[in-house]
Amino acid sequence: MKSYLVQPDKKLDLSKHDPDGRSQFDGSKDDAQQELETLNSRLSELQELLYAESKHRILIVLQAMDTGGKDGTIRRVFSGVNPQGVRVASFKVPTPEELAHDYLWRIHKQAPGNGEIVIFNRSHYEDVLVVRVHNLVPPEVWAKRYQHINDFERLLTDTGTTILKFFLNIDLDEQKKRLQSRLDNPDKHWKFNIGDLAERKRWPDYMQAYQDALEKTSTDYAPWYVIPANRKWYRDLVISRIIVESLEGLNMKYPPSENLDGVVID
Ligand code: ADP
Repeated sequence: MKSYLVQPDKKLDLSKHDPDGRSQFDGSKDDAQQELETLNSRLSELQELLYAESKHRILIVLQAMDTGGKDGTIRRVFSGVNPQGVRVASFKVPTPEELAHDYLWRIHKQAPGNGEIVIFNRSHYEDVLVVRVHNLVPPEVWAKRYQHINDFERLLTDTGTTILKFFLNIDLDEQKKRLQSRLDNPDKHWKFNIGDLAERKRWPDYMQAYQDALEKTSTDYAPWYVIPANRKWYRDLVISRIIVESLEGLNMKYPPSENLDGVVID
């Protein structure tokens, strides 16, 4: 999965990342579905262990262009996981109260506690993406944020949080297909946001903003992965593998039990 890692301190050329890529799996879609089910079960076991041990904290950051598949990824990758130990935090346009604070205030409040997995559906990265593209603050303000973000993520990882960040990489054609299918299907109209069409026109600006953000904030302690996301099944498979591998690496153990020898239940 290292091929999707954004190497810290190296230049990133997002255009070299193929949204249609599937180099890490040569089986069929059905084979992938089977592997995904196995990974789902393993993730469920690991999450129970994480919850029982109550020592580590897991933060998963999902960023994508509109229709990029954040919601579907959450549904598919975490299907089967006990909802008690997983929380999704979605970040929308900041409220007046949030805007009256520093931009990380609302983010820090949602960070995971011991034994918890939190998925950020959008995140503090919006403050160097949409905010930059729409000039919501001047360049000298957003330019400082990459360093703030690295320092903030360092604080979280120094205090027991594992951070994994995924950019779901689709292309303009795929977005068109997905928008069109929302338009064609009345049951999906609720997902169709007319504002997405204006954002679509700014695609190159967003790609530039993503490229800078990923390049400047992929660190060895909080890495970014660029996930080929035109194929939903491949996206889910790759993300599941990375999360499972990362949790396996924590070498978690169930807490030692009390001595239960001779315990009798009446
Ligand atoms: P989603 O597209 O994630 O399913 P919405 O359709 O409600 O959810 O969109 C949320 C909107 O909030 C997005 O357009 C996003 O760019 C915007 N947003 C999130 N964070 C910020 C921020 N810090 N500043 C401005 N806009 C933001």
